[in-house]
Amino acid sequence: MTKYFEVIRRDGPARLGKLFVEKTIQTPAIISKDDYLCKGSVFCFGSTEEAMEPAPTSNGNKKLVILPYVPSALHVEQLIELPIQELNGPKGIVVHPFYGKPASADVYVMGSAGSLKNPRDLIGAVVGVRNRIPSDTALYVPALATPSNLAFLVYLGIDLIDTTRVVADAYFGRYHTRDGVRSLADFDELPCKCQFCQRLAKEGEDAKTLAGHNVLELEEELAVAREMVRRETIREYVERQVRVTPELTAALRLIDREHIYIEHRTPQHRRSTLYANTAESLNRVEITRFAERVLSRYTAPKSDVLLLLPCSARKPYSTSRSHRFFTMATGSSRRYLHELILTSPLALVPRELEEVYPAASYDVPVTGHWDLEERAWLLRCLGSYLEKNRYTRIVAHLDGELEQTVKDHGIDAVYTGGGTSDSALTRLSDAVREACQGAVRLGDMRLGRYRAVADYYFGSGAGDALLAGKVKVKGREIQNEKGKPLVMITPNGTIALSPEGARRLEPLGNYIVNIGDFLPKGSLLAPGVVDADEQIRPGDEVIIRGEKAFGVGRAKMSGWEMVESKRGVAVELKQIEKI
Ligand SMILES: [Zn+2]
Repeated sequence: MTKYFEVIRRDGPARLGKLFVEKTIQTPAIISKDDYLCKGSVFCFGSTEEAMEPAPTSNGNKKLVILPYVPSALHVEQLIELPIQELNGPKGIVVHPFYGKPASADVYVMGSAGSLKNPRDLIGAVVGVRNRIPSDTALYVPALATPSNLAFLVYLGIDLIDTTRVVADAYFGRYHTRDGVRSLADFDELPCKCQFCQRLAKEGEDAKTLAGHNVLELEEELAVAREMVRRETIREYVERQVRVTPELTAALRLIDREHIYIEHRTPQHRRSTLYANTAESLNRVEITRFAERVLSRYTAPKSDVLLLLPCSARKPYSTSRSHRFFTMATGSSRRYLHELILTSPLALVPRELEEVYPAASYDVPVTGHWDLEERAWLLRCLGSYLEKNRYTRIVAHLDGELEQTVKDHGIDAVYTGGGTSDSALTRLSDAVREACQGAVRLGDMRLGRYRAVADYYFGSGAGDALLAGKVKVKGREIQNEKGKPLVMITPNGTIALSPEGARRLEPLGNYIVNIGDFLPKGSLLAPGVVDADEQIRPGDEVIIRGEKAFGVGRAKMSGWEMVESKRGVAVELKQIEKI
C-alpha cells in the first residue's frame, strides 16, 4: 500500500512497474546506491540507539531510505527486529526470507537474498515474502541476480535487483554470461565482443574491466526480460533459460507446484502464442485451467453421437486443411453429432471452444508420439468428460498412437483409423452416417457456441442466462428480441458483454466488481474498488456495479489485487451507464 510504487503491466507473476522516488525508476530495474540511502546494519553504528535516530530526509523527501536492520542467517531460531521508524518519504525495510510479519513499507528488501542458492529456499522465500507483503509494493533482492537467473527472478515477481554479485565475482576472475558463470582463465576465446571483452582479450585479466562486462551482460539480460514481459512471452523465455543449470530448472518446477501463487497471477488471455515445448509446459496454469473449465464449467449439448478428432497445426482447427476435409466428409450428419478434439497438452477441446485462448493459439512440437505423461493426462480428462457428458455412440477418427491410446483405454467406439486420404474420409463418412441413424438433431449450433463460451468465461449457467428468451445471431453478436446487443465473441476468442448482457448475468454473482458511490470514466482505479470477485484474473470481462453506475470492462489485475491495491488501473472500462 504505497504511493511510491505502481504496477503497470503484468505477465503472470512478472510485472512492469514504476517506482516514484527521486527519479522515476522503471521496474524491474537494477538499482544502485545512487537510488537509495541505506542506513545499514546496526553494526555500522556506535550504538543501537544511534541507529534508531531519525533518517536524514533530503531531496524533497523522495529519497528512498532503507531503515537499519539486524543481519541474520538464512535459517534462524529467533528473529531480532528493530522498531520501524516513521518517514515522510519512501521507506524500505529489510525482511527475513522466511520469518516475521513485515511492517508497512514501499520497498521490501529481502535479507540474506544472496545466500538463496538452494531452489527450495529460493522459491520458499519469494513466495513467502510476496504473500506477506502487499502486491503493490516493490520487492528487492540484493546480491542475487546474475545474467543466467535474472529472467527467472523477474518471472517470480522480483522488481529490483543489483550488480553486487556480478561485480564481486569479477574480483575472483568469474566471467558471467546468460549461460552461466565460468572462470575467465578457462576461455580460449571470449564469447562476447563488447568493449570490455576486447580489452580483456588484448590486455589480459583485470577485475574492473571484467566487472564492466559482467554488468553489461546483466543490463542486456534485464532489457530482454522486460521485453519478454511486454510481449507476454516471459514464461516461454524462462522455460528455455532455466535449462542452463539444474538448480534453475528445479526452481521452475518448484514454482509450478505453488499452484495458488501462479494461478492467482495468470491472465485469462495472452496476445502471444503459447509454446508447449517442454515437460514443464504441461503444468502451465493456462493449460490446467482450460482443461479444468472444460470438465467443470462446460456442458456438452444433448447429443447421441460423439465424434473424436485429432488436432491440427493450424488454429482454430476448423480453418485447417484436415478439419475442412473432416467437415466435408461428415456432411449433413454434422447436425446430429458433437465434435471433440483430442490434443496435447490441452487434452480436450470441444468444437465450440476452439477459438478460446489458448485453444486458438498454442503450438507444440509434433512427433506423432505420445509419451506416458501426455497419455495419462489425456485419458484422465477424457474419462471425466465421458462421465459427465453421456453419448450413445462414439466415432473415433484418430490415427497412430493416439488411436491406440484411446482404444487401449477401453473406450467403446467405432475406430476408423483416422487420416485425410480419400479412403480414410470415406470410412469417416460411412461411420458417422451409420452412427447418426436415429440420433436427435442438435439445436442451433451458433447459439450452442455462445452458450459454451459464456459458460467457459462466467461459469455454468451463464450461457442459459444470456440466451434466455428470444435472441438472434447477428454476425458475431447475439441480440435480444428488440435488437439490443447482449454479447459478442471477439475475433481473438474473448467474450465481450454489453450492459444489457451484464444485467442478465448479474444474478449469478460471478465476475462482479463492486465500486463506491461514483461514476467512473475511462479506467477504474484500484482505490475505487470496494469488493471484487476472487475469480477475476487479468484479461477477464467483468461487470461493474455501484450505486451510481453499472457497466462492463476488462480486468487489468486479479480480483484479490483490486481489493488490496491502492494504486493502478483495476479495470479498463468499456461501457458504463449512469444509474
Ligand atoms: Zn563482454
